[in-house]
Amino acid sequence: MPNGIENAAVIGEEFALVFSDGAEVYLPLPMLRRACPCAVCQGEPDALGRVVRPKVEYGPKSFGLLRFQQVGGYAIQFFWADGHSSGIHTFDYLRRLSEMTPG
Ligand SMILES: [Zn+2]
Repeated sequence: MPNGIENAAVIGEEFALVFSDGAEVYLPLPMLRRACPCAVCQGEPDALGRVVRPKVEYGPKSFGLLRFQQVGGYAIQFFWADGHSSGIHTFDYLRRLSEMTPG
């Protein structure tokens, strides 16, 4: 894949990503889904700038990853088995997420 990503794949219950600088990132699928940055999952600021975090319900299919695709040269969009696909995870965001996981 061009621009920043050397390789990306689902391995078991993890999403594995290799950046072109050699950095490797492994993210558990449930974590990836809970970290979905879209407005439905994370909320949007209201007129006063307050962000009300929505209550998101996850079902048995929520953590199944059907497919993913690169967006431009900076992000990955994930398509989940429950039909959710509006989240765009930027490469920077994915790297930061991986720094939050132990190991
Ligand atoms: Zn979302």
